[in-house]
Amino acid sequence: MCTGVYQNINNSGLEYPINPSLFQCWRKDYKRPESEAWVISTKDKLAVLSNCTNSEWKDTYRPMTDCGINGLGTGYREDSITLRKVKKTLTNYHPRLMIVNFKQPDASGHANDSVAYLQGIMDTDNYIYQLWYQIQNDEFYKDKTTLIVTNDHGRHTAGHLDGFVSHGDACDGCRHIEFFGMGPDFKKNFVCSTTFEQIDITCTIAELMGVNMPFAQGRVMLDIFN
Ligand SMILES: [Zn+2]
Ligand SMILES: [Zn+2]
Repeated sequence: MCTGVYQNINNSGLEYPINPSLFQCWRKDYKRPESEAWVISTKDKLAVLSNCTNSEWKDTYRPMTDCGINGLGTGYREDSITLRKVKKTLTNYHPRLMIVNFKQPDASGHANDSVAYLQGIMDTDNYIYQLWYQIQNDEFYKDKTTLIVTNDHGRHTAGHLDGFVSHGDACDGCRHIEFFGMGPDFKKNFVCSTTFEQIDITCTIAELMGVNMPFAQGRVMLDIFN
């Protein structure tokens, strides 16, 4: 989602992506300060999204990070804390590019707690509303900001293995994710039936922001544009 390139990667925050991210490419193209690009995450391990191993890009044009309890290796925090941090960062820094991660409902799914799982969906839905409300009530962002809501993976189809509890194979449920986008460049009240994939999200954001992503392999989701 950040690099536009599929890569098998350690899932514990012990490995950086190979290729430069949207954050790095955007900062380089537009000569913007790091305070305008942010990775804000409930999960500390996602701090690895802020860097890459490509020798020409490593340690350059990195975004700011606010991940987990206190950065890489310190553990997960509550989503409510992440929401508060996002709101504060939007107000204090007015970033132009940001990725936010919430751990729910994934965490409750793994705990096999269907009540908490449904509550996690509702809570996260409410957080997204609060963020959109803040965006649309800040002149810096109002009517010129895109919000995309998506998942890093689905969950097993009901009846397959342990169902919603786990994920990570090639079943239909695991491979189908949500993509919800709103902003001035997207069609309104439009349901897209074209099949797109995660690396296409990168290229779509790059298109919106006019960023050159030399390594990205996805395609722009032109169907959803005005
Ligand atoms: Zn999971
Ligand atoms: Zn599955």
